[in-house]
Amino acid sequence: MSLIKINQQGLLGDNYSVLISEEEIHQRLVELGDEIVNVFSGEIPILIGVLNGGFIFLADLIRYINIDCEIDFIRISSYGDAEESTGHIKVLKPLSADIKGRHVVVVEDIVDSGLSVQFLLKMLSAFEPASLRVATLLRKKSRMKVDIPIEFIGFDIEDKYVIGYGLDDRQIKRNLRAIYIVDNDRD
Ligand code: 5GP
Repeated sequence: MSLIKINQQGLLGDNYSVLISEEEIHQRLVELGDEIVNVFSGEIPILIGVLNGGFIFLADLIRYINIDCEIDFIRISSYGDAEESTGHIKVLKPLSADIKGRHVVVVEDIVDSGLSVQFLLKMLSAFEPASLRVATLLRKKSRMKVDIPIEFIGFDIEDKYVIGYGLDDRQIKRNLRAIYIVDNDRD
């Protein structure tokens, strides 16, 4: 795995510690890409990135998927700038693609309570896709409030607020190349 080393110390304060390194993310993406190819061989799946957090994961993941695929994006609200899910979800940017009869993979940055993915699966299934699966980079299994199948999981992580690689800390820090834990003693 040859990744260009960039020092992002300027973006990092004292409040962050590395949970998953850039190398570990990309090693896992190789495996996830293969898992997706094995499931969809002979098909052209459409991957739907969930904005904003899922944009980097989707962009990197498709470069490890060695079959043709399409992409689209959807944006939903759930948290606002708070760290706790309210369960009240709105579609802020609808799909552009017609997914009727298509093999669909919803690409999430993180599954926490699972309420966002549950909402998305219900909403997207109304468009009658041929199949509907979920890929998430991260899952906080102990936090899940709903039992939904998630076919492609990057990493199961502990119950800590994480940032970087698309995930925000109050809208910033998405451009960190690794995934970091936010220490509890911040204001
Ligand atoms: P859920 O509906 O599964 O509770 O929440 C999913 C969404 O909450 C994610 O797509 C993400 O936007 C946000 N979220 C949940 N946990 C975290 C976290 O640890 N860090 C960040 N940055 N966002 C999170």
